[in-house]
Amino acid sequence: MTQTPTEPGLGPDPLAFDLVVIGGGSGGVRAARIAAQHGARVALVEEYRLGGTCVIRGCVPKKLMVYASRFAQEFAEAEGFGWSVGPTRFDWPTLKARRDQEVARLEGVYRSNLVGAGVTLFEGRAVMQDAHRVRLADGRLLQATTVLIATGARPEAGADIPGAELAIDSNGFFELEQLPRRVVVQGAGYIALELACLLRLLGAEVTVLVRGPRILRGFDDAMCAHLQQELLATGLQFAFGRELASLSRSPANAQATGAGDSALQLVLDNGQTLVADCVLRAVGRSPNTAGLGLEAVGVQLDAKGAVQVDAQSRSSVAHIYAVGDVTNRVNLTPMAIREGHAFADSVFGKQLRTVDHTLVPSAVFTTPEAAMVGLTEAQALIQYPQLDVYRSTFRPMKATLSGHGARVFMQLLVDRASDRVLGFQMVGPDSGELVQLVAVTLQLGATKAAFDATLAVHPTAAEELVTMRTPAVRHNF
Ligand code: NDP
Repeated sequence: MTQTPTEPGLGPDPLAFDLVVIGGGSGGVRAARIAAQHGARVALVEEYRLGGTCVIRGCVPKKLMVYASRFAQEFAEAEGFGWSVGPTRFDWPTLKARRDQEVARLEGVYRSNLVGAGVTLFEGRAVMQDAHRVRLADGRLLQATTVLIATGARPEAGADIPGAELAIDSNGFFELEQLPRRVVVQGAGYIALELACLLRLLGAEVTVLVRGPRILRGFDDAMCAHLQQELLATGLQFAFGRELASLSRSPANAQATGAGDSALQLVLDNGQTLVADCVLRAVGRSPNTAGLGLEAVGVQLDAKGAVQVDAQSRSSVAHIYAVGDVTNRVNLTPMAIREGHAFADSVFGKQLRTVDHTLVPSAVFTTPEAAMVGLTEAQALIQYPQLDVYRSTFRPMKATLSGHGARVFMQLLVDRASDRVLGFQMVGPDSGELVQLVAVTLQLGATKAAFDATLAVHPTAAEELVTMRTPAVRHNF
């Protein structure tokens, strides 16, 4: 690009900032705003839309769609309570338009908060020119005393199989103009299960391809087993131990399988064939560091491409920091926000803050939701051989009249020696809400005796939490 010295940042004198943030997602936006409030001259560069994955094509639009999907069950349940619900009809384009409108509104809020805090925004891709200069797509250079990499992560493509380009990832999911009738989802992590479940409740036939023997590997075994049963009851189908071998959209295949012209034919690794209108691959996410010029300036990346940082989020180059998914520590929005805030306070606010990456509560927004905080049973047993597992599965009160067969699962893991509660897992309505408060009690070091001493709130599902008296399992290693 030809540089004309009359434009700011072009020519020999770059625009100078105390902090240049690359990436306008949850972590980058928080860091930029707080650093500016501490008096720093801050620039933020974003190549797509402000808000990042969470706001634009992740948590927020997903949760709005989860809400939409749950009405299907609620209409059915209402009849048990005396309501007559006539024929219902769901319109995907209406939901998509309203969802996108809300996302645009939030993006505007992010923008005005940044501008209001005095942050200078640049649109387009940024790369490191050298250790202290960031080059924008139009050739302008930003001089940076400190650089923050907050570029997040992107969907992994998965194995490079024939026809891979016919599949979509979670970004493509948010672009769908219509509800696909038959869907195959590959993967069994947060994203695969949340999207599979909402599509199922909205009326699609959904098969989840799981390469291993179970969903949500690494999560608590008993919780996952319960969730799997609940998801099966929604009509979601699982194919365990299966990988995708190829995808095609040929009329010959369509004829042979009786599928329509637009249908996709899938071949699995055991030769089995499936037909779908949409194949969604949700097989993990990779840190967004490719082509940023980080290695050239000495920033060390790990094998997955994540920026390696210390407890202060500082990379191997002293003035270059990184927060959020690009560091592949705990890949959750609230953690990116916390890391970004701690970075800004530490570097520009004269308050050294580190982020605790333990005791992280989270929820999987399937229906029913699964939520957890602290250790799983398998993790707890490694450190605490005398482990008591308090576990309860029960029919929630609402189901007595609705006739819905769902059961709630609740589990507390307790170290018998100290009586400390080490972990909590739940599957059931509103478990994502409940786990937030249980996390506070674990943060305070709550004992089982404290749960027992707490009076129940009746009638609720949550009261089970303080009324579980006898361990279901007493480990004694
Ligand atoms: P996850 O790492 O959670 O899950 C990836 C899934 O894909 C696993 O089931 C994994 O199987 C499977 N997989 C990986 N590689 C392959 C392959 N080559 N072939 C077949 N299957 C494969 O990633 P997600 O993309 O679901 O989520 C990314 C991150 O986003 C999460 O870590 C989470 O932190 C965050 N997130 C949080 C949400 C929330 O808080 N509600 C919602 C959505 C995302 P296996 O188990 O065998 O490895």
